[in-house]
Amino acid sequence: MEYSIPLLNLKKQYQNLKNDIDSAIFNVINTTSFIKGEDVKKFEEAFAQYLNASHCIGVANGTDALILTMKALGIGPGDEVITVPNTFIATVEAIIAVGATPVLVDIDYTTYTMDPDTIQDAITEKTAAIIPVHLYGMPCDMEPIMRIAKENDLYLLCDGAQAHGALYNGESLVRFCDAITYSFYPGKNLGAYGDAGAIVTNHNELAAKLRLIADHGRTDKYSHSIYGINSRLDTIQAAVLNAKLPHLDKWNSRRREIANIYNQGLKDIPGLISPGTPSYATPVWHVYVIRTQKRNQLQEFLKENGIQTGIHYPIPIPDQAAAVDLIIKCDHDLLSNTAQELLSLPMCPEMTDDMVKTVVDKIQMFYS
Ligand SMILES: *Cc1c(COP(=O)(O)O)cnc(C)c1O
Repeated sequence: MEYSIPLLNLKKQYQNLKNDIDSAIFNVINTTSFIKGEDVKKFEEAFAQYLNASHCIGVANGTDALILTMKALGIGPGDEVITVPNTFIATVEAIIAVGATPVLVDIDYTTYTMDPDTIQDAITEKTAAIIPVHLYGMPCDMEPIMRIAKENDLYLLCDGAQAHGALYNGESLVRFCDAITYSFYPGKNLGAYGDAGAIVTNHNELAAKLRLIADHGRTDKYSHSIYGINSRLDTIQAAVLNAKLPHLDKWNSRRREIANIYNQGLKDIPGLISPGTPSYATPVWHVYVIRTQKRNQLQEFLKENGIQTGIHYPIPIPDQAAAVDLIIKCDHDLLSNTAQELLSLPMCPEMTDDMVKTVVDKIQMFYS
């Protein structure tokens, strides 16, 4: 079905940047530099600079970014890794993929990010790392999480797949962890035209190890110092990302404007909870998630009015058919119940004010 107000609008974004993106892609084809071409290095440098970080290592996707980082840190069988139960499956999948055990702790139900107060109780002598997820583009409360990681001598990785450009107390999120991973899945705030990902870190040794592992442990074309894997950032994807990165701040600002219109328009509706923004956070609103007990009816009503919505995520990790080998420390019932109430409203920089106001009007109409 064609929605008059879609959840996101990648076609519109392409139309706006068509010349830049077409020439970026054709340049890679013309130079046949498909693997490890100029654009890869250029993007890694530009993205590291954008995030005020020393290193960016381009990889094949955001899931590999998590897996490779844990491998590089020596996290594996026998280790426990603390993360949250409300995330895209990749965060937990990556922990399983390295042979470690995911430990799921509670979230704060205004920001939907890791609740720092619940971490300490989940730490055992097997705990190796904490992976907070900057979900929905909302930065986690990093200072208390950093303190706990430090006191317990744990690695602190962040899943930043939904938070390109988000800030904590005005500063880049890289500063608050050992490494942060990104996905450039097409629908993300900074999206490629296929799969792509990156790891960003200020640690020289970790960066060097990651570069080795992501490219066959290669020190030279046919010299391999360790066994690695093939998880490189494709040159065509890097070229697309280079064309888009200069627009990211403008897009994120526009997302904040849209979030403000939603916040204002929805704040007085009884039974509808809009997302909270703590004072430390400069979020980038990958999605704008409201909570209501009438979720399914509201979703249906908006659909009838040409408005597309989403649910992030309809099935929490502990309720997935795949859920085995997990240690569940979170309030499972609260989580499952909340998942029934979440609804993501249309959110993309290409939305006009009128479109946002239409969504607000329709929601107000639904409740009146
Ligand atoms: C998109 C996403 C990933 C996975 O990224 P891929 O590039 O699709 O592998 C990981 N974590 C979160 C929170 C995501 O949203």
